[in-house]
Amino acid sequence: MNAQKKQQLIELYDFARKRIIQSMELRHCPHAGFYNSVDERCIYCHQGMECVWMNHNDELVSLEEKSEEDLKQQLLVAVDFVDSNLSPYHLTRRKCQCENCVWLRQVNEALNAP
Ligand SMILES: [Zn+2]
Repeated sequence: MNAQKKQQLIELYDFARKRIIQSMELRHCPHAGFYNSVDERCIYCHQGMECVWMNHNDELVSLEEKSEEDLKQQLLVAVDFVDSNLSPYHLTRRKCQCENCVWLRQVNEALNAP
């Protein structure tokens, strides 16, 4: 496996983490954002996707040990998340320079690179 490629993917996780944490409302979370698979409040929580993602990909989880395929898969989940939180304004601007759009383009390039 190409270590440089992997490093590039891992760097893209920083922004994804930041974005997902920002959007989560932890005030009402009984577990302070730590997903608990046996608590049904977690299973039915509207923040389930963000929470599960964070708990699989936060800084305590060693991304280096994941396979390249795994890293790509989880990045795609984050892309969906960022994408669905953008207003149509961004999507219609092809060269939008906001950090969200720049990040989305970077991920795209990284995922499509040979
Ligand atoms: Zn934008």
